[in-house]
Amino acid sequence: WLKKKQLARFLRERLPKRIHDLLRDFGQVADDLGLNLFVVGGFVRDLLLRQENFDIDLVVEGDGIAFARRCAERFACRFRSHEKFGTAVIIFEDGFKVDVASARMEYYSRPAALPTVEYASIKLDLFRRDFTINTLAIALNRGRYGELLDFFGGQRDLKDKAIRVLHNLSFVEDPTRVFRAVRFEQRLGFRIGRPTEHLLRGAVRQGFVERVGGSRLFRELELILREPDPWPAVERLASFDLLRFVHPQLKLDKTLARVFAEASRVVHWYQLLFLERPCRPWLIYFLCLTSALGREAMAEACRRLNVPPRIARLVTEGREEALAVRQRMRRWRHRKKPPAASEIYRLLHPLERDLVLFVMSLAEDERIKQWISHYFNHLAQVKCELDGDDLRQLGIPPGPVYRAILDDLLNARLDGRVTGRDEELAYVRRRHLS
Ligand code: ATP
Repeated sequence: WLKKKQLARFLRERLPKRIHDLLRDFGQVADDLGLNLFVVGGFVRDLLLRQENFDIDLVVEGDGIAFARRCAERFACRFRSHEKFGTAVIIFEDGFKVDVASARMEYYSRPAALPTVEYASIKLDLFRRDFTINTLAIALNRGRYGELLDFFGGQRDLKDKAIRVLHNLSFVEDPTRVFRAVRFEQRLGFRIGRPTEHLLRGAVRQGFVERVGGSRLFRELELILREPDPWPAVERLASFDLLRFVHPQLKLDKTLARVFAEASRVVHWYQLLFLERPCRPWLIYFLCLTSALGREAMAEACRRLNVPPRIARLVTEGREEALAVRQRMRRWRHRKKPPAASEIYRLLHPLERDLVLFVMSLAEDERIKQWISHYFNHLAQVKCELDGDDLRQLGIPPGPVYRAILDDLLNARLDGRVTGRDEELAYVRRRHLS
């Protein structure tokens, strides 16, 4: 196991200087206040796994908010606190954030209830965490800098590549951990340990997951879908019969596998080419995951998961529009003449980008993919050079007709019938002034 000196050297060698200096500075502030300070959780896990992670989570034995306040004074940065939870965020000028918590013990009044908070020591704080690999902490005070705290076998489980809970009631206490177990397992290429798997299946069988509030379930599902390749985790969820919490009709079958694989290709293609116009892969994957659900079932899923209104609208009404667009494109395949660029643009432009990418993921026909790719590559950003002022100067009386003229002009541009300002002016004169 790692010794203090080894770990201090490891920290120095593995971390960017800025992060390393910051940890030392935090240690000094804690010394000044006479508090014990630790960096904990995912940061330590990933450090030992040699994976990059600069999300610093600090735990203070005592008043974390007072610590954050002192840091804000010392480093001339801001902090925000949540008195109720004893937590704070230190926010540096460039937006870099560090989370601070007060070591606390949580009492669960009933299964799946939200905890109430009291102060306690670091060991109890670590004990309330989800898996052993997330219970490692490193002391940051000067005298103890680099001391690794491993109360629950975290190092062993990192070596064994095992996801293990800390005690038998872990999934009952907080059933969202069943989703977290799957997420960490798939992300790290670990395996959920046998007894842990047994407990997980038991908690699912006994209906504990049903008691979790929709928002928390949705949040965990979103985190899974935010992973770079969520498909293996979705398969694993299905193997634990966890997809039914999204909707009872949801099944894992060949079609879903194909749509997901296609979505992954589409997302990677898009992100490579259009960095400056970001899409939301998790949302595209969510639409794919639920693509077999009908309109009413999807609305039910949104209610059950308490999906935030804007997202809910997108995956219900927006999705219906996307499916209608898909139908139109399928009919285009039977036409003699391929669609004009302006037709492609007019069909796709009203849809949100993520919905267009969803339609692309569903497309079985290469031609539909080509039309959509043509849209992103050549059409989506096309603008006319003329605007309302120009129309006024041409002597056209302002009114709704402006919209119609500019639309018509944009179509002409999209179809390559005009290029450049002079041709646009000539076009408007010819078509709308004679
Ligand atoms: P990521 O790399 O995905 O951010 P993380 O380990 O930092 O992983 P977070 O979801 O940010 O995970 O949570 C931070 C820490 O809080 C975790 O390391 C975990 O120990 C703890 N934690 C989060 N959610 C739970 C939970 N439901 N039950 C117990 N502990 C949790």
